[in-house]
Amino acid sequence: MRTTSQPRSIQVHASDNVAIVVNEGGLPAGTRLDSGLVLRDGIPEAHKVALTMIPAGAPVIRYGVTIGYARTEIPIGSWVHEGLLALPEAPALDELPTQEGVRTQSAPLEGFTFEGYVNDDGTVGTKNILGISTTVQCVSATVEYAVKRIKAELLPKYPNVHDVIAIAHLYGCGVAIDAPGSEIPIRTLRNLSLNPNLGGAPMVVSLGCEKLQPAQMLPSSTLPILSSQPYVVRLQDDAHRSFGDMVQAIMHMAEQRLVQLNARRRQVRPASDLVVGLQCGGSDAFSGVTANPAVGYAADLLVRAGATVMFSEVTEVRDAIHLLTARAATPQVAKDLIREMAWYDRYLERGSVDRSANPTPGNKSGGLANIVEKALGSIAKAGTSSISGVFGPGERINCKGLVFAATPASDFVCGTLQLAASMNMHVFTTGRGTPYGLAMAPVIKVSSRTALAERWSDLIDIDAGTIATGEASIPQVGEAIFHYILDVASGRKKTCADYWGLHNEFALFNPAPIT
Ligand code: CA
Repeated sequence: MRTTSQPRSIQVHASDNVAIVVNEGGLPAGTRLDSGLVLRDGIPEAHKVALTMIPAGAPVIRYGVTIGYARTEIPIGSWVHEGLLALPEAPALDELPTQEGVRTQSAPLEGFTFEGYVNDDGTVGTKNILGISTTVQCVSATVEYAVKRIKAELLPKYPNVHDVIAIAHLYGCGVAIDAPGSEIPIRTLRNLSLNPNLGGAPMVVSLGCEKLQPAQMLPSSTLPILSSQPYVVRLQDDAHRSFGDMVQAIMHMAEQRLVQLNARRRQVRPASDLVVGLQCGGSDAFSGVTANPAVGYAADLLVRAGATVMFSEVTEVRDAIHLLTARAATPQVAKDLIREMAWYDRYLERGSVDRSANPTPGNKSGGLANIVEKALGSIAKAGTSSISGVFGPGERINCKGLVFAATPASDFVCGTLQLAASMNMHVFTTGRGTPYGLAMAPVIKVSSRTALAERWSDLIDIDAGTIATGEASIPQVGEAIFHYILDVASGRKKTCADYWGLHNEFALFNPAPIT
């Protein structure tokens, strides 16, 4: 039984001088905690209480790390809110620990499998989807029209194919196609087309006169298997004498792909064929003590089982980068991490903003005082494994183990870039709640609080709030997430987002100018 009436608080690390109030609705002033500490102020749920008197200018410590400095003296038992904390400097990139020495590797986990679709390029899908790529926004409405008809008229004949997706976007023309940074949206579109869940059988719809030509977006050399087959429908081709002709051409090529995809069956594959992307959105102060550590535990199990696990969101790891470079498997990986942080620092500088712009009003009312506190909670998702590779935005991952794929923290931009990186499963933690979902890969949503999981029982797949109430341990919830990933990847279980068909749009990251 969950007893919310009893005052509860969580201190993460022995050296912390703040703890988080767990009780739903918070605790009133005068409440006595188990430790004997009496609350001086009323403290909202998920917000911080001072465990000692913190002198003006002294560090406020959570996760064993300084999350800010006291602007004034903070008496014991006080509510330590955003206004009392001065933001520390981000760790300097030129003096980071680059290797901790030899890391002890946990024993490999053998025997874990899932049932997936094997592609010609060796990747494995957890879904069997027809993806129709587009080179330019001009063709999107036509492709969306064709997709509606394909779903209504063709898809029912091919029951082993799960879905048909138009990869629509705003890029492709009216853009500085050779400007620095333009390689990011271009390779993102290429690698989205090659996502393992699309069966390695991409098809492309082009207008004809656009700047981003099919040969640049998806050169036939990237498709050795298909290089002899046509894979492009060009709407301006002379052969098309009407809108009806264009739609027929798209539907004809789509049906050829559907025949190929429909012949495939799930096969037993080792868990090492999974590429699991991790993300958080709508975080609160519980995210870093419940959902994210539980996902981190699952991430460690996946890495031990040989899988690829990807974490991202540069602005949410920037303030914890010193903890990550120390986990780099090689000095080169540490250098690559620093390179991606430096690139993003410059990108933000160009826009005259810095990382303090990241936390949202919801993050703050959820108890997260600033980006440092958010980052320390965020990196808990990445578990404890050493980091084996670093990839730039939109690059395709080509190694196993825990990897960092640099992306903005925006849920949709990050999700799109993780799909381009070849993600075939997605795990998403949330504290405030979001109905997020993606069409191209299953999204398992993990809540940081039980109240959210109960209120949104048809949107949240796994409740990690039981860790805060003491009903479950981090390993128990982590194991449950690990097994749920294998079940969903095999098609045995369906995520809430897939049940409702909640699929957010693709959102490209284009740091280059629009012309
Ligand atoms: Ca996010």
